[in-house]
Amino acid sequence: MSPVYGYYHLDSEAAAACPAGAEFEFTQLAVDLPLTRCPWCGGGVERGLAPASIRTHKFDCELKDLGFSKLRRVDDGLFENLTQRPGEARLIDRRDPTTFPKGKK
Ligand SMILES: [Zn+2]
Repeated sequence: MSPVYGYYHLDSEAAAACPAGAEFEFTQLAVDLPLTRCPWCGGGVERGLAPASIRTHKFDCELKDLGFSKLRRVDDGLFENLTQRPGEARLIDRRDPTTFPKGKK
């Protein structure tokens, strides 16, 4: 199982505008380099100190209630929305903004 890391935006303006929300979880392989840019909005992001799944295990529905989006990369530029809300696409294509999760506004 791939570790899940919590990321947060460094820029509050980007955080407000980003389809993934101010904070998001990102599943990645241990060999992957930490993200420095948000895969959705391209804004600067920083990884939390520990994998989110170890720091605090939260159920997907709980994340959803908190306004988090949990996404898993399935292909280059293609993500699965694990906290899919009604009206949201299951698969997110970073080149297609209509598939972005809406998050909590
Ligand atoms: Zn972003």
